[in-house]
Amino acid sequence: MTGIGAMGSPVYIFIFVLLLLTAPVQEDAYKAQREQMVEQQLKRRGISDKAVLNAMRTVKRHLFVPTAIAPEAYSDGALPIGHKQTISQPYMVAYMTQVIEPTPGMKVLEIGTGSGYQAAVLAEIVKQVYTIEIIPEHGKAAAARLKQLGYNNVEVKIGDGYAGWEEHAPFDAIVVTAGAESVPPPLFAQLKEGGRMVIPVGPVYRTQTLKLIEKKRGKAVTRNLMPVVFVPFTREGQQ
Ligand code: SAH
Repeated sequence: MTGIGAMGSPVYIFIFVLLLLTAPVQEDAYKAQREQMVEQQLKRRGISDKAVLNAMRTVKRHLFVPTAIAPEAYSDGALPIGHKQTISQPYMVAYMTQVIEPTPGMKVLEIGTGSGYQAAVLAEIVKQVYTIEIIPEHGKAAAARLKQLGYNNVEVKIGDGYAGWEEHAPFDAIVVTAGAESVPPPLFAQLKEGGRMVIPVGPVYRTQTLKLIEKKRGKAVTRNLMPVVFVPFTREGQQ
């Protein structure tokens, strides 16, 4: 049998059909896992905002983690994404998104792009997301990934998020996904009147406190939400 003849053999046709069939099956397996994540990890723990639940149902978390651990993408925990950084537990992403009370018209700043997952979840709900990442490799990879997935309402900047993003300020909300020792004053300054910032504050690599800070008549009204552990908020030159 010639090579060309072999290509048309039933074995190849069988493999081809099998590939065609399994591709959507795999996609569906993750869809089912996402649904399960929403039901068991989010709703049961009090995530009730419909837009947030929908975003968590929609964003393909398995495309934001290293391929080798894609099958664990929907597990109930944080996962390593390289350079000693992690993608937060799904519940934490949903909780931080819910707490800023996201609405479709909002402009949100995120500090700590990491994989881009939190930015994508926000982008499903709000109008525009600006996100800053200090590790260039992460920033570049996240920007490429978000673009490829069609998130045209996310802009990624590489740099130290401590200074915020003056050019696009003020923001309706700010989501900080690295543990800071204190609230960076430029971030509070770039928050709109009535705006909300969610930020883990506390000592490096110890338990921090997730805080919700609202700007009321120019003053910070702070509420402690829960104990958390985030990777450190680093400063330029400290890497
Ligand atoms: N939100 C991310 C996970 C964040 S992990 C996601 O959904 O995947 C925290 C990230 O904050 C890391 O990538 C870390 O490099 C980044 N980071 C730490 N300090 C920073 C700073 N000063 N400015 C910007 N990014 C910072």
